Amino acid sequence: MATTMRAERFYADTKTVVLEDVPIPEPGDGEVLVKVAFCGICHSDLSLINGTFPAQRPVITQGHEASGTIAKLGPGVTGWSEGDRVVVAAGRPCGTCANCRRGDLANCMRIQLMAFAYDGAWAEYTVAQASGLTWVPDNVPLEQAAILADAVSTPFGAVVHTGKVAVGESVGVWGVGGVGTHIVQLARLVGAVPVIAVDINPGVRERALELGADYAFDSRDPDFADKLAEATGGRKLDVAFDAVGLKVTFEQALDSLTIGGRLVGVGMSADAPTVGPTSMFNLTQRQVLGHLGYHNTDIETLAQLVSRGRLDLSRSISQIIPLEDIADGIRILEHAEGNPIRVLVQP
Ligand SMILES: [Zn+2]
Ligand SMILES: [Zn+2]
Repeated sequence: MATTMRAERFYADTKTVVLEDVPIPEPGDGEVLVKVAFCGICHSDLSLINGTFPAQRPVITQGHEASGTIAKLGPGVTGWSEGDRVVVAAGRPCGTCANCRRGDLANCMRIQLMAFAYDGAWAEYTVAQASGLTWVPDNVPLEQAAILADAVSTPFGAVVHTGKVAVGESVGVWGVGGVGTHIVQLARLVGAVPVIAVDINPGVRERALELGADYAFDSRDPDFADKLAEATGGRKLDVAFDAVGLKVTFEQALDSLTIGGRLVGVGMSADAPTVGPTSMFNLTQRQVLGHLGYHNTDIETLAQLVSRGRLDLSRSISQIIPLEDIADGIRILEHAEGNPIRVLVQP
């Protein structure tokens, strides 16, 4: 086996991404070496490059949405074999905080994020904790498996855990890109009705209808509020998801809720929206819920839903880019060229 591999390294001081040959990492206790098949390009990767997110390391390999096959087991790893097809968790518990020490690893208070706190998977190989691996059924393509680590699991967490969407509830989704598309699909899967997509891009609205939204509205339409009311029999929304995170989307989504409705914030920006006068906020009994991430077990649930034909992700991979051309992939996502759902890197 070779001793070096190609990796895309981000340098914090110059904010540049450089293709380099680096040593293939050695898996430690409880870890495995994974030969990367595909790794997604996420908006949070762009946020590190453009400085919105502060760098935690001077140099790091980016990419936190990876699938692949196990190439080597570290000491003490049992239950896994070389060649197993896996998804790699996009974070790892610290093992020492108050929640980790009581066995609640899923709610680690100092979660270490892959590609921010430790090296990610825009590389030929990556090291992962065996406890964070998810086995991929044979009939699930590794392209689709990769995006289960973030672009589909974060929406799953938002719909199932944070939004707790129930059968028959009316749902709206603001921003129907890489995250919002999967919120639309999962809201429909859990029985939300109607599901209303909201986006300023006509092509994206058309795609949302094809992927299961009952309605797709332009947020800038002067008749938006009337259309939303009509689509919901005058009730407005039980749950609104803001996958954009701007003041304008957050406040419109909040304003679109019925009495007691929930707003789930998923998209992030530096904007600071308001909930308006406390009198109205309390009178309408609305709830505003911040959302981040997912439980590792959600990846397994999603792999089963894909494997058994309940969830179709065949349209979610917009483009696959060779590792050498990652700058193209970053540009495509940054400028939303062709309205990508997910762009993948293939080492
Ligand atoms: Zn991400
Ligand atoms: Zn912890």
